[in-house]
Amino acid sequence: MTEVKRKGPKLTKAQRKHFREVILAMREEAVRQIETKRESFIDSSPGSSQLDSNYAYHMADVGTDAQEREKAFMQYARENKFLTFLDKALERIENDPNYGYCVECGDRIPDERLDVVPHTTHCVKCKSKIV
Ligand SMILES: [Zn+2]
Repeated sequence: MTEVKRKGPKLTKAQRKHFREVILAMREEAVRQIETKRESFIDSSPGSSQLDSNYAYHMADVGTDAQEREKAFMQYARENKFLTFLDKALERIENDPNYGYCVECGDRIPDERLDVVPHTTHCVKCKSKIV
């Protein structure tokens, strides 16, 4: 991975603090979501509390609410993934002087974008190229 030179000064301490708070708030919400989803697809029968990689497959024939459970499971998985992104972003805010800059082109990612997706590593332009 080549290091892209960021086109501007490192984010100020105040800016970092701000985005850190944005991320922490999102993190809190994600954790809450995960707890809720988890309850909705894990039934209370003994032995089912152990979550393993076969769970999604296993759920395919559990009954009429299988679809609902599967949906909850997908959301749960997505929130979990989101959580790891947020954690990575928190680490970057602390340790990476390039936080807030696009890793692809080095452009400053606008504050308005970081407010919505503080864990992003790409500007809109580069992100749309990936997708
Ligand atoms: Zn870019």
